[in-house]
Amino acid sequence: MSQIKTIKDVDLKGKKVFVRVDFNVPFDNTGAISDDTRIVAALPTLKYLLDEGASLVLASHLGRPKSKEDKQFSLAPVAKALSEKLGKPVTFVDDCIGEKVKEVCSKMKPGDVVLLENSRFYPEEKKNNPEFAKKLIEDTGAEAFVNDAFGTAHRAHATTAGVAAFVPVKVAGLLIAKELEFLGEKTANPERPFTVILGGSKVSDKITVIDALLDKCDAMLIGGAMAYTFGLALGKNMGDSLVEADKVDLAKAAMEKAKAKGVKFLLPVDNMVAEHIDFANASVSPLKDVKCADGIDNGWSGVDIGPETIELYRKQILGSKTVLWNGPMGIFEIKECAKGTFAIAEAVAESGAISIIGGGDSVKAIKKSGYANKVSFISTGGGATLEFLEGKELPGVAVLDRK
Ligand code: ADP
Ligand code: MG
Repeated sequence: MSQIKTIKDVDLKGKKVFVRVDFNVPFDNTGAISDDTRIVAALPTLKYLLDEGASLVLASHLGRPKSKEDKQFSLAPVAKALSEKLGKPVTFVDDCIGEKVKEVCSKMKPGDVVLLENSRFYPEEKKNNPEFAKKLIEDTGAEAFVNDAFGTAHRAHATTAGVAAFVPVKVAGLLIAKELEFLGEKTANPERPFTVILGGSKVSDKITVIDALLDKCDAMLIGGAMAYTFGLALGKNMGDSLVEADKVDLAKAAMEKAKAKGVKFLLPVDNMVAEHIDFANASVSPLKDVKCADGIDNGWSGVDIGPETIELYRKQILGSKTVLWNGPMGIFEIKECAKGTFAIAEAVAESGAISIIGGGDSVKAIKKSGYANKVSFISTGGGATLEFLEGKELPGVAVLDRK
């Protein structure tokens, strides 16, 4: 994966570049952009390309429009916000292909920036229709493709993958390059010991990730509801905890693989359990610590890892040189059940290890913990991150040039 070419490996001076960015930003109820993180995140790649003397045609999706008439999904407000941040005009075209696009793009000079309308206004986008992809390139006159939208790189859509077939140069932007460096290179040849922390709700969501990472890591720490299915596999009663009884065999197979590979495989030694979980009011009652050896009584559910487990996991993390973390240790959305997750976040921060965190909820959890700025890398991918960790080739990366 380190073999993928990036914008730093090619000469784009004077070239018109089709850049797939992730401008899928949230809006508040007044129609204003409520979080511009993704626009800010795109700036380094865009500025680099402009400094190199390229002109930029930007494409992105926004939300899930049903048709072109769904104007609340227009990217027009993003053009304005981007223009302010870049300190230069950004021309918005309210289409992706066709006469208007041809007219505006044919007049572009180096340093110019054009933003196309939401690519998902065309159903051809998600279908990765080759004629549509070809028109995106022909009508804009683009000579190169830069993909910098990691969050959609696991989808083979026209703007994420299809367009690559119609340009001679296709490379990764700086955001994707960084994702590949941390999720890929730094876990393929990790500084050891390499510890993987996995949690979250379901074994079924993560079994392929577990399997792939057991080939790379020295230790694997399991938390979250996932741990209870492992508890079942060890023959314990798990009470009313969230378990997947039909995944017990997968859990057993993972433990056997860990043993065969000599990977230290740690499961919780104690759990915080509650009788009532009130998601609406984000509270639990009563809450107590029970040893895993005793299982969990009926009428009670596991909601977090317990203090002894925190200590055990903390020691392992502090002794690691690389840490990869996906999946919260408990129901971190409820304050009383966030202790395990936050304590693990603290240990990761303290460890000084190369630390990589990925997964939609895991990223929310690390931000909530207050330790986000102590982590080496926070992956932006969500679903794409998990697929990458599963060892799948992402279509939006697979189409890029190799070194
Ligand atoms: P990610 O999005 O980072 O990949 P997941 O979606 O797999 O993570 O898991 C996150 C969810 O797992 C959170 O909503 C959290 O509440 C839930 N979870 C963690 N521990 C438990 C538990 N003990 N019981 C129920 N849900 C849990
Ligand atoms: Mg999730």
